[in-house]
Amino acid sequence: MPGTVIIGAGFAGICMAIRLRRASIEDFTVYEKADDLGGVWRDNTYPGAGCDIPSMLYSYSFAQRADWSRVYPEQHEILRYLHECARKFGIRAHLEPGTEVYAARWDEIAEVWRIETSRGTATARVLVSAVGQLNRPRYPDVPGLDSFAGTAFHSSRWRHDHDLADRTVAVIGTGPSAVQFVPRIAARVRRLYVFQRSANWVVPKPDRAYGRVAHRVFRRIPPARTAVRAAIYLRGETAVYWAVRGNLGARRLARHAARRHLAAQIADPALRARLTPDFPIGCKRILISADFYPTLTRDNVELVTEPITEITPSGPRTAAREFPVNTLIHGTGFLATEFLRPMEIVGRDGVRLHDVWREGAAARLGMTVPRFPNLFLLYGPGTNLGHNSIVYMIESQVAYVVRRIRDGRVHEVGAAEYEADRRALAAGVAGTVFGAGCTSWYKGADGRVTTNWPWHTYRYRWATRRA
Ligand code: NAP
Repeated sequence: MPGTVIIGAGFAGICMAIRLRRASIEDFTVYEKADDLGGVWRDNTYPGAGCDIPSMLYSYSFAQRADWSRVYPEQHEILRYLHECARKFGIRAHLEPGTEVYAARWDEIAEVWRIETSRGTATARVLVSAVGQLNRPRYPDVPGLDSFAGTAFHSSRWRHDHDLADRTVAVIGTGPSAVQFVPRIAARVRRLYVFQRSANWVVPKPDRAYGRVAHRVFRRIPPARTAVRAAIYLRGETAVYWAVRGNLGARRLARHAARRHLAAQIADPALRARLTPDFPIGCKRILISADFYPTLTRDNVELVTEPITEITPSGPRTAAREFPVNTLIHGTGFLATEFLRPMEIVGRDGVRLHDVWREGAAARLGMTVPRFPNLFLLYGPGTNLGHNSIVYMIESQVAYVVRRIRDGRVHEVGAAEYEADRRALAAGVAGTVFGAGCTSWYKGADGRVTTNWPWHTYRYRWATRRA
């Protein structure tokens, strides 16, 4: 019987596994439903996929890399990094790919989790969910979606077998994923319609390749890497954080940078107006892109801002027009607020996690829920960020969970602590722009923000410093 079962082998699951090994805890298994590790960096293989946090920071503090090819590396390089980490820290032997967890039930007498997977049953003292927030695709809620007769796919399930050359293509959505792949496919397709429901705030992407000298410095002088990491981190905790917290000066500066970027790249005032957001900057993720706006000015690209009323067999339709296309690409994001679905997690007294979360997911420090002993969530409710690297949060959580596992006791958070935490988080979110008038995946069906941590990330590390 493994002492610990980790569900998911993305950034968080791998980090958990590495930290357990480093604490000399070997009785754990990582179940991964896909055929290999990597999480979002395995799933999102669309052209141009990459991270908008520089990899010097978007990487583990204990496995810094000196030879990132550029400031913002692409998906394949980040995925390679995760594979390197799994190899270097000996995680492979603990990994069971192709194993989907369907359900887990707490056995009160034996004080263990009884786990049902696609490959049989298992038992563990501790259950760690590392499934993250962005693993299940969201499709647009428009009538007729399934009637489309051409090829349709989601950005995170890219059909590389479908050649886009010379096709007429519609892309739904203009979020972080779409702004990355739209520029990459525009030159290949015959015609591209980009359907935008809300304009986003976009700032320039200060990307560049690291040359030989930088690589040598990072390799030979490790403190140089740490200094770069620290500088990126501090920028997130100051300028970006203040903008998200609604600090007027910081917001004005960020808005000014975005407006200048738009004005520099889009000459046509009518197009510029359609690309100007109508909500406060930071309400949803601020996008970084050097090539999204210029792509929209290409002759074969058209930005469509009228709402899609229906998808017909030939393509999207708005109130005034039909758009016959060969290919439909959904850049419509993920079911982020449906934490841990579709798994069935049943705690003490037969209570179902999804019933507890009927009015919105929550967890003490994003990790623990009353009546679910020895269940820990990584990148759980209230721990996503709008201003810095999620890897920092994950490392804080993993350190906390390892301490809990080491103390060997059954851990269950008290209801009062959980409620106090939930109320504090709601009050904290109220002090940010996340809840302002915009649609975003931070919000559940009732419009409440359940995904995000609204304060500085070091406050989270401080709060999780002790088990
Ligand atoms: P997203 O941020 O949820 O964006 C979805 C897009 O689809 C939005 O533009 C949304 O419009 C639009 N949409 C949804 N339903 C629609 C409909 N019925 N008609 C028209 N448009 C519709 O999803 P995402 O771009 O995949 O990004 C999700 C998250 O993944 C990001 O926030 C980020 O955390 C992560 N990510 C990061 C990177 C990166 O690091 N660069 C890249 C990709 C993804 P509205 O804005 O009006 O809702």
